[in-house]
Amino acid sequence: MSIFNKLKQGVSDAGNKAKTTVEATRLKGQITNNTGEINDLFLKIGREVFTSYNTQTNTQVDEKIKTHIININNLLGKNKEIEKNIHKVRNQKDCVCGHTVTFDSEFCSACGHRFAASAIVVPTQFEAVEKVENIPKEDI
Ligand SMILES: [Zn+2]
Repeated sequence: MSIFNKLKQGVSDAGNKAKTTVEATRLKGQITNNTGEINDLFLKIGREVFTSYNTQTNTQVDEKIKTHIININNLLGKNKEIEKNIHKVRNQKDCVCGHTVTFDSEFCSACGHRFAASAIVVPTQFEAVEKVENIPKEDI
């Protein structure tokens, strides 16, 4: 093989390597996309199992799964308590419509709901979130 042909072959090999790298990268991208979809589907399975257990549609779950569901319910309960503490810090309360108003509001500015008269309590300390343990799943 002449020097010219060797050079030509080298350029061709480099071109093929570049094409191979581009193709491999494209294929790896497909795997990444599929993995993302797989993870979304795992999440959907988890949510379906969680919801069906909490709504008593299907309570026949493995003990490991039951433990995960209980942990999720406990965390959701803790989040509710944290939300209450955030409202206390901000001096707010939630209306039945979901709108947030200042704690001393008599009426909801969104739906007009009248709040029951209550003494204004200045929060002095936060409720211990750790106390929230066995929250009934019906509350979630
Ligand atoms: Zn309202």
